[in-house]
Amino acid sequence: MEGQLRVGVTTFQGDVEEHLLATREAMRRLGVRGEVVTVKLPEEIGSVDAIIIPGGESTVMSRLAQRTKSLDVIRRRVFEGLPVLGTCAGLIFLASRVYDRVVGETRQPILGVLDITVERNSYGRQRDSFEVQIPIPALNRDSFRAVFIRAPSIVEVGTGVEVLATYAERAVAVRQGSVLGTTFHPELSGDTAFHEVLVTEAVKYSKR
Ligand code: GLN
Repeated sequence: MEGQLRVGVTTFQGDVEEHLLATREAMRRLGVRGEVVTVKLPEEIGSVDAIIIPGGESTVMSRLAQRTKSLDVIRRRVFEGLPVLGTCAGLIFLASRVYDRVVGETRQPILGVLDITVERNSYGRQRDSFEVQIPIPALNRDSFRAVFIRAPSIVEVGTGVEVLATYAERAVAVRQGSVLGTTFHPELSGDTAFHEVLVTEAVKYSKR
């Protein structure tokens, strides 16, 4: 509907449902009217005011995004200012540089819209998946439940990138303008802080 905000969650692969719910809850809290939809095809991606790229398996995601010809559309729109939140595999997809802790170079197509270097599967087998409480001062949280699932880590951060949170001496949540990324899964935390930042950016974007 005209005048209503539209946020899209990409469905190439990954945990879509939790992001739909978290984004709707973020809108409700902020009193923003709008809809949260799933998107996959270039024309669907062309009609949203912000986009979320969920976690999952980043190589599968990249391949599907390429096959549907959506990868280039997302890249172009994000470079033109479309707000985006990438979580876990979604963060890998946003990154400028990526390698895998075990196999090294991955050659997977990535968007290159977030100036970071990411190491995939960074925590090894023993700490495959875990959750910790971490402070996120930039979002006024003393304690945020961060769920890591075969998570990447951010090993290098470009000068234009703000680090929002760290864990074990590495950045785990970053922001470069309206491009947001987390190595953990905020949609599983029960706290919509990150989704609220994205919705706020989407509102600004839709008014420009
Ligand atoms: N290990 C996955 C990858 O490298 C990411 C895992 C996740 O998104 N939960 O693509």
